[in-house]
Amino acid sequence: MLRVAVIGSGPSGIYTAEALLAARPDAVLVDVFDRLPAPFGLVRYGVAPDHPKIKSIAGALARTLSHPSVRFLGDVEIGTSPIVAELRAHYDAVVYAFGAARDRRLEIPGEDLPGSVSAVDFVSWYSGHPDSALEAELHTDTSAVVVGAGNVALDVARVLAKQPDDLAGTDLPQHVLEVLRTSTVADVHLLARRGPAQARFTTKELRELAEIAGLDVLVDPADLELDALSAQTVASHRDVARNVEVLRGYAAAQPAGGGRRLHLHFWRAPTALVGTGHVTAVATDVTHLDETGRLRPTGATETIPAGLVLRAVGYRGAALPGVPLDADAGVVPNEAGRVLRDGVVSPGEYVVGWIKRGPTGVIGTNRSDAAETVAALLADLPDGTGAAGLDPAHAIGWEGWLAIEGAEAAAGLPHGRGRVKLASWDELRAAASGTSRAAGSGEPDGG
Ligand SMILES: Cc1cc2nc3c(=O)[nH]c(=O)nc-3n(C[C@H](O)[C@H](O)[C@H](O)COP(=O)(O)OP(=O)(O)OC[C@H]3O[C@@H](n4cnc5c(N)ncnc54)[C@H](O)[C@@H]3O)c2cc1C
Repeated sequence: MLRVAVIGSGPSGIYTAEALLAARPDAVLVDVFDRLPAPFGLVRYGVAPDHPKIKSIAGALARTLSHPSVRFLGDVEIGTSPIVAELRAHYDAVVYAFGAARDRRLEIPGEDLPGSVSAVDFVSWYSGHPDSALEAELHTDTSAVVVGAGNVALDVARVLAKQPDDLAGTDLPQHVLEVLRTSTVADVHLLARRGPAQARFTTKELRELAEIAGLDVLVDPADLELDALSAQTVASHRDVARNVEVLRGYAAAQPAGGGRRLHLHFWRAPTALVGTGHVTAVATDVTHLDETGRLRPTGATETIPAGLVLRAVGYRGAALPGVPLDADAGVVPNEAGRVLRDGVVSPGEYVVGWIKRGPTGVIGTNRSDAAETVAALLADLPDGTGAAGLDPAHAIGWEGWLAIEGAEAAAGLPHGRGRVKLASWDELRAAASGTSRAAGSGEPDGG
């Protein structure tokens, strides 16, 4: 029997278990560890709450995690207790699938002013991540800026721009919904350093903005004029051409005056966050591409008022004690999933997902990625060696997770909502051990 430990129960870790089961149905046991009481990684703590179809991928992941040859071992932080060396001693193979959940920085003055928040922290807050210490304040100003030109920037801009009632049907934690209800933010400005042909939005997420009730999406037609290089990109990439077409539609539309506005600005590179004691504005350079494709300031500048700045400029991987890390790339050095220590393949150690290849791709990308890692693992280790595995006494197992799900379903009832996420370590642990309060009998709050 081959015994494999997987560190991380996000999509890449679970797809690893799935590929192992498919290849060795009766000859593999997989322990999937997670530091959190709840499984599914960024499917639970990243994917936007108003994207239920994508979130429902958790259902398929759950089938693998509840398979008799798989154990979910939640609330076990590898690197603290047990340490990686213990895992390596107790399993035939260890697969690192611990993701890349740190933020990248803008590296500009004023970045740490109060009111400047990384999208990683904002997403963790609205997703109910138990580590989130953010006390989001949305009632101090009418204007917010989101820096970034990818789908995460669009996710956070959408959550800010939507009417809270339109989010009440999601699993947002109750305290988050209540803060969103206090919001005075009427103008959300999204700043992309480059042009529409260089933005990394997917067309589906761009189009979806048009369906948000009470929201005008505003684009300056001048931002959509294409330089020669951008025109080439549009001509050769259909997805980029579709994005530009959607943006031209927004630029041509008459605002309906719905009360909230999302301004999509291109060619604006933030140079400083301005304010004394709290952020009040973002200073930007107006930019363009030179003939070699390099981003250059035009010499013009623009300052955009904002009492809240969300920095959505990417995720990066961080070190786990006992595991090598290429700090520049933010990944575990590897060759097709085999971990390299000092450039040499380290027997029995593998890596998958964002911590293998960086924070790119969609959820499904992790499945083909896991197939590559598992192929390497099984080529190296066709048979098990009688490894015993570990049994951490305090681990939250599959039954514990089902109890959390039950408690979350009950938590929505007093508020007239469906399932509502539990957002603290205490609540999650109490629910897992079956000691959470039963659903209250309070009056619905109309949400
Ligand atoms: C904000 C956001 C929105 C996204 N939206 C979409 C979307 O709409 N559609 C889409 O296709 N993709 C989306 N993605 C991308 C998708 O979430 C990722 O491709 C995927 O989650 C990466 O999987 P992973 O397993 O590598 O990492 P993660 O999902 O990050 O999983 C890593 C797991 O490892 C655990 N872990 C970390 N350290 C330890 C430790 N020391 N011990 C034990 N466990 C540990 C973590 O708790 C976590 O559960 C989004 C990503 C983000 C950030």
